[in-house]
This record gives sequence, C-alpha cells and structure tokens, in this order.
Amino acid sequence: MPVCNSNQLKTFNTFGISANANRISVAVSVESLLDLWQEAVENHQPILLLGGGSNVLFTEDFKGTVILNRITGIDIQESDTAWNIHVGAGENWHELIIYLLKNKIYGLENLALIPGNVGSAPIQNIGAYGIEFKQVCEYVDLVELKTGKQIRLMENECRFAYRDSIFKHGYRDGYAITAIGLRLNKVWKPILTYGGLTKFSPDDVTPEQIFHTVCEMRQSKLPDPSITGNAGSFFKNPIISAELAQKIKSEYPECPQYYHNEHSVKIAAGWLIDRCHLKGYHIGHAAVHQKQALVLINQGNATGQDVIALAAYVHKQVAEKFNIYLEPEVRFIGSDGEIDAVECIS
Ligand SMILES: Cc1cc2nc3c(=O)[nH]c(=O)nc-3n(C[C@H](O)[C@H](O)[C@H](O)COP(=O)(O)OP(=O)(O)OC[C@H]3O[C@@H](n4cnc5c(N)ncnc54)[C@H](O)[C@@H]3O)c2cc1C
Repeated sequence: MPVCNSNQLKTFNTFGISANANRISVAVSVESLLDLWQEAVENHQPILLLGGGSNVLFTEDFKGTVILNRITGIDIQESDTAWNIHVGAGENWHELIIYLLKNKIYGLENLALIPGNVGSAPIQNIGAYGIEFKQVCEYVDLVELKTGKQIRLMENECRFAYRDSIFKHGYRDGYAITAIGLRLNKVWKPILTYGGLTKFSPDDVTPEQIFHTVCEMRQSKLPDPSITGNAGSFFKNPIISAELAQKIKSEYPECPQYYHNEHSVKIAAGWLIDRCHLKGYHIGHAAVHQKQALVLINQGNATGQDVIALAAYVHKQVAEKFNIYLEPEVRFIGSDGEIDAVECIS
C-alpha cells in the first residue's frame, strides 16, 4: 500500500498551512482504503480522509493517519436522453469537466475550476455560477469503513442543501465516498443567470464559451492557491430573516441579497465583511484578501491559529455591525480530527 515518504501536510492543503501527520497514505482502490483504515484502527490512530485539501484548515498537527483518496476511473454510458457517468472519488473535479467537454458531454461547465476531488463535491454540494452539484448528481457511492459494506444513495436521499448534505451529518464519521454518478442531459441547456454569463444569449452560446468565461472570471477574482494559500470562500453566505434583510437593505440598498424562501434571505458574506472595511486586514500571516473579502489567505507562513484568530475577528466585526453570525464553510481539523469551526471562532 502506498505510503508517502513525507508526513508533512503543507502540500496537501490549499491553505498551505504547515502541519504534520503521523502518517500519510494513499488509497487507490476501495480495498486499499479499507486496509489502511483497518491498520489505523488497530494502531489506535485517528483517521482523516482527504481529497484535494481545498476545504480544510489544519489548526495544529494531526496525530493520526491521513488517507488521500486517489480512487480513479471514469465510465460513460448513454441512454437516448442522457449521459450516465460513473466517476471514482479520487478523480480531479476540474480535470473531469475538461475530459467531458473534449468528449462533447456538457452540463458541468459552470462548475469549472473548483479545486478538489470528485468525491468531495457531494459533501458540501459544491456550487458556483448558478448551479449546484445536486442538479447533476444521480447517486453517490460510499463504503462503511468498519464493515466494508457498500452503499449507494440516490440524489433524493443525499439531503442536499446550500453547502450541505447528509455526508456532513449521518454519513460523516466512519464512511468514505468512493464514487459518484452523474446524469447529464443530451439536450444541453445553458445556465446564464449569474455574473458575466448574463451577457450571452442562450440561442448561440457554446459550452466551451461558458467554460472559458467561468475560468476567466474565477481567475480574475480569486487568488490562485498554488501561489497564495487559501481555501476559497472561508464563510458561508448567511441565511437571515426577511425582516433583518429588509432592515439592512433600507440602510444599504446596494447590499446583495438572494431569495431563499418566503421567510428568509441569503446575503453575501463577502459584502458584509467588506462593509466592515476588513479587506487587507491581517493577523500574523493570515489576511483578508484585498479583492475578495470572503477569502482568507495565507500570506506566507500563516499558522492555523493565525487563521482562526483572523476568522474570529471577522466574525466579531460582522456580528457587531450587522447582528449576523458568520459560519465557516471551511472544515477545521484538529489533532484528533474535525473540530467545531463555529465554536473555534465564536
Ligand atoms: C480557490 C478555491 C475556490 C473554491 N471555489 C468553490 C466554489 O466556487 N464552490 C464551492 O462549493 N466550493 C469551492 N471551494 C471549496 C472546495 O474546492 C470544495 O469544497 C471541494 O469540493 C473540496 O474538495 P477537496 O477534495 O479538496 O476536499 P478536502 O478539502 O480534501 O476535504 C473536505 C472534507 O471532506 C472530507 N472528505 C474528503 N474526501 C472524502 C471522501 N472520499 N469521503 C468522505 N469524506 C471525505 C474531508 O475529511 C474534509 O472534511 C473552493 C476552494 C478553493 C481553494
């Protein structure tokens, strides 16, 4: 079974936080995943599954075994109306989109350039530019690590919601996602509701144009993790009562708000942070990004504790000004495993 020579996690998390694990191993099949899990359990080691490490913050050294999911494989089947694509959890999400585009299979282009593995996409129901993973998901395959029992959850069983799913709750500890199934309609319908995509006409836009435009928009707005460590949006966009949203809107008419349901509204967390004049604010080597206030960055040698202190400061400023309590989207990993991110910054 492949074991990394290094026990350093810096290159395995896009925040670029220096932290060590006792051991870093690579699972290339369900069998090797189960063996590595069993071995770590026998050695009384905490275990952390990791994909691309683009949604985690290591708050300190991890005193256990990290298992990198590298289960690959793409299988494409077709019916009269749709492409059915079975993908190993360890495939890279963006590379999958490129591969499908080359094969003239469309529908994922709005989700281009989201870092990370295919198997992590269902966990927080990744979303961008008007589309969420749930809209293309047919099923998610997982394995119960203790027993080796393989489970398939269909899309309607995954409890997908905004940045949420059953994989953050009932099927979190002791389960690994091993593959996903996508269903992409052969009749392609462009989604042009968001940002720079609204300039296109649905009658003549191509999937390639959407793909390139999304990539350009993301590259111009977001820091590239290979240059500046970050984990994308650090906080979720909060969902607040319609009453509070109205109060904020009357004071700040330009505040971006989105319909959630008849009682509540989703409000842009980046805008709230920006209104607190926090762009560029830093603690230690962690800073609020100059262009995109929702992104916290590692300016060089930030520690997990620097990022926590900064996130706590941002949280406090926004709470004091708007009476809104931001929640991290990023998952916090302590010495024994995941810790409560909300508690850490409150
Ligand atoms: C620059 C940048 C931009 C981003 N933009 C977006 C965006 O537009 N929209 C969006 O939704 N997200 C965005 N993200 C967040 C991130 O890319 C996604 O959440 C992505 O799906 C995480 O994938 P990953 O493989 O890196 O997950 P990891 O960070 O490796 O893992 C995330 C969590 O899932 C668990 N996990 C990993 N693999 C498995 C598995 N196989 N089985 C069970 N549990 C597992 C881990 O233990 C961890 O708790 C962005 C991140 C960055 C750095």
